[in-house]
Amino acid sequence: MTTQAIKLDLSPRPAEPELIGLAGLTRAELRQALIDHAGVDEKKARMRADQLWRWIYNFGATSFDQMTNVSLDLRAVLQRKFTLARAEIVERLVSVDGTRKYLIRFAPGVEAEAVFIPGVGRSGALCVSSQVGCTLTCTFCHTGTQKLVRNLTAAEIVQQVMIARDDLQEWPTSNEDRRITNIVFMGMGEPLYTLDSVADAIDVIADNEGMAIGRRRITVSTSGVVPKIVELGTRTRAMLAISLHATNDELRNELVPLNKKYPIQILLEAIRNYPDLSNAKRVTFEYVMLKGVNDSPAEARALVNLLKGIPSKINLIPFNPWPGSPYECSDWETIETFSEIVNRAGYASPIRTPRGRDIYAACGQLKSESVKVRASEKRKAEREG
Ligand code: SAH
Ligand code: SF4
Repeated sequence: MTTQAIKLDLSPRPAEPELIGLAGLTRAELRQALIDHAGVDEKKARMRADQLWRWIYNFGATSFDQMTNVSLDLRAVLQRKFTLARAEIVERLVSVDGTRKYLIRFAPGVEAEAVFIPGVGRSGALCVSSQVGCTLTCTFCHTGTQKLVRNLTAAEIVQQVMIARDDLQEWPTSNEDRRITNIVFMGMGEPLYTLDSVADAIDVIADNEGMAIGRRRITVSTSGVVPKIVELGTRTRAMLAISLHATNDELRNELVPLNKKYPIQILLEAIRNYPDLSNAKRVTFEYVMLKGVNDSPAEARALVNLLKGIPSKINLIPFNPWPGSPYECSDWETIETFSEIVNRAGYASPIRTPRGRDIYAACGQLKSESVKVRASEKRKAEREG
């Protein structure tokens, strides 16, 4: 038997060139990507970016082959350098009430949730996340128990909308029957701690030649990051929602610890300065109904007094429990009594029906598995040592 020397090729393999993701980019980023990576001439870049923009955000293109008004040569370059893929959906749950929850993995250990909430008729809202986890520790909120992993980029926020649109088959945008009519930044995280990416994402989502969801249909909810409130309005022209939840500082300090930094009166002052406030553009005050904590008739009256002079809507949210949560939801009668007092004072105060509770998609129930995943990956890595 002859032995044959086996020659092993130990030279480093050339790495696969990584494709650059275009889904979710702003117009400026798209233009720059074409110049930097596809050799597009600076003078033509704007026109090319506009062409791609429509394919990506109006038609929801997932392949460059669809782009019939782009030359074959350029399409070949685009194919080699870029991808239109969205982040991976690691879990998709559909509730008995039609609510859909998507757990999206943007990178290993970076997962956030987006929730589609069908409304009346064909309308519906998509609730998007701005951060994975949250640095604030509101005591009634499940996300608040998860440490901040990181802020999401604008593209990652936009992709949440694209993914929901893919799933609901809502491309192209001009479709009259579309179901995602509104966007609410009420998922995981504090949007005003990542205002740059939120503002860029809103520019993309609201763009008329793309997804065209009007700024008046986009609401950003904050727990009260006072120094960023007016800036949010001037930069985005979006609707403002404030997580108030208490009418005095002592209780609010407990429920929303950020209140210690920005107490109620200072918060209200910033809200009064929000641009364009009027009866047609009101602030929504969110008030979670916690049994025996903040739900008395006296507090309903205090709430009405507090908001005098501010064009407001009040949104009463029945508390959504989560495993280990320290509160209970107020009784239905208590919520109705509270709501009546607020209504009599002239405020619309819809009680937000909890949606998607069976799939843990309701307000404040979101908590991604990132932390768990990271822990299990760590254990695995240790085992493989
Ligand atoms: N961080 C931002 C936006 C995300 S929270 C903010 O706090 O405003 C979206 C809304 O759900 C907020 O009003 C929040 O206070 C509320 N919420 C949080 N946990 C909840 C729970 N368990 N039940 C009901 N509402 C909750
Ligand atoms: Fe963060 Fe908002 Fe939850 Fe408070 S309510 S912990 S700010 S996500």
